[in-house]
Amino acid sequence: MFGKRIDLFKMFGFQVRIDFSWIIIAVLIAWSLSTGFFPFQYEGLATSTYWMMGIVGALGLFLSIILHEFSHSLVARKYGIPMKGITLFIFGGMAEMSDEPPSPKAELTMAAAGPISSLLIAGFFYLTYSAGVVLGVSDPVNGVIQYLALINLILAVFNTLPAFPLDGGRVLRSILWGIKGNLRWATRVSSAIGSGFGITLILLGIFNVLFLGNFIGGMWWFLIGMFLYSAARMSYQQLLTRKALEGETVRRFMKTDPVTVSSELTVDRLVEDYVYRYHHKMYPVVADSNKVEGCVTTKQIKGVPKEEWNRRKVGDIAAPCSGDNSISPDTDAIKALSMMNRTGASRLLVTEGDRLAGVITLRDMLNLLSLRVELED
Ligand SMILES: [Zn+2]
Repeated sequence: MFGKRIDLFKMFGFQVRIDFSWIIIAVLIAWSLSTGFFPFQYEGLATSTYWMMGIVGALGLFLSIILHEFSHSLVARKYGIPMKGITLFIFGGMAEMSDEPPSPKAELTMAAAGPISSLLIAGFFYLTYSAGVVLGVSDPVNGVIQYLALINLILAVFNTLPAFPLDGGRVLRSILWGIKGNLRWATRVSSAIGSGFGITLILLGIFNVLFLGNFIGGMWWFLIGMFLYSAARMSYQQLLTRKALEGETVRRFMKTDPVTVSSELTVDRLVEDYVYRYHHKMYPVVADSNKVEGCVTTKQIKGVPKEEWNRRKVGDIAAPCSGDNSISPDTDAIKALSMMNRTGASRLLVTEGDRLAGVITLRDMLNLLSLRVELED
């Protein structure tokens, strides 16, 4: 569900994307608006009019969430926090930070910007709606405006819940962080509250389905609860990982005697003697005296038709070393992790000049991290 992202457009230098799941939600929202909300609020309009209102309403919600996320991103940029972009997914938006905020004040301002902007948007639509009533603007137009005022108010209120990683939870964390000066403790407390909210919503959902027979409402509570619970736990794990990796270089995690292949090897031998034997997805291609020529991955093997495997050589299909598959041993380990995150590769070449120094894998990093958390926490 998460991961299939579609690039939409760039605004203020931020890339806006939507997760595939959002399209499903958008259709559901348009559907429930045009068959439920609008016919209930404004009786006697044509079905096609309700659908127009539903679609415009869903688009308006989409823009409202983007504006909410922009407000976070603009404040983040003011504090020099690099932002990867904005992704809309199943329960709204996510402004993606590549680092923790530098200070409690930065986090407070950044988190508060979201609900404040939603509140301002709600106010703007409410005033427009009121003016529309006085001026006698037609129901279909004014109905959508009224809905947008309401939904932005809901966005503001929901995001203000002190449940980390929602905005309200981030405000709470920044205050705790400011009081004690300990980001890790502040994150632990606020994410515990966040998971608590998540569990409460899950239970409310189950209660609604089992005892009140409210299946659809209950399912929503349940899903939002699940989302909140896992997001809270994940954010805390992420912080622990970052803290544990702080100040460490790639050299500390890399394997110095990786399995390597020669560019003269045929693809069928590569598959038989290496892929099926070592189960790695990436092999450094190395010439005499440890000179790296690139790397070959299972993805590239898949690109060669099977009947050509005995004729084609590794050298023909290998990718040259690039910023996406190789890293220097003196780089921060965090950089390696975010590179893996970005490219989806779980193994990277570690190169010093044109020599191969080793290979760094996600699994080795995580193993060392979990040992450290176990021994030192
Ligand atoms: Zn927000």
